[in-house]
Amino acid sequence: MDNEQGKYVGSCLCGAIEYEVEKPFLFFKYCHCSRCRKITGSAFSPNIMVKAPQFRWSKGKDCVKRFEPETAKLFSSGFCPTCGSNMPWYSRNERYVIIPAGTLDKDPEYAPQKNIFWNSRAPWFTDACDLEKFAEDG
Ligand SMILES: [Zn+2]
Ligand SMILES: [Zn+2]
Repeated sequence: MDNEQGKYVGSCLCGAIEYEVEKPFLFFKYCHCSRCRKITGSAFSPNIMVKAPQFRWSKGKDCVKRFEPETAKLFSSGFCPTCGSNMPWYSRNERYVIIPAGTLDKDPEYAPQKNIFWNSRAPWFTDACDLEKFAEDG
């Protein structure tokens, strides 16, 4: 299941920021909460959680921006100020890191287990598997 080092690399779209994360992952959940929809611009955020020692910034650590909504106890977001990509973020107690799975550069060989905040899902949410499929743009 793991690759040789058990290390997975991720990056933002412009390449200014890169990170490494190691298994084991604690979970992989699709979060449909309204905050995750805002920060991703998507129907849900594909969130992998790891313990903080399994994560490190390998490039551009000082570029990473963080936003903590005043009304949120746990939630934060990380992002690249140049290209706007969501980036991993440390939990407020700094014990965990949430990895937006779409920023990983290769297959984490680990699949999502759950939809959370399902009752908050976007009214237009439609399961991707139910839609017509095209190998490229269609
Ligand atoms: Zn970037
Ligand atoms: Zn969420």
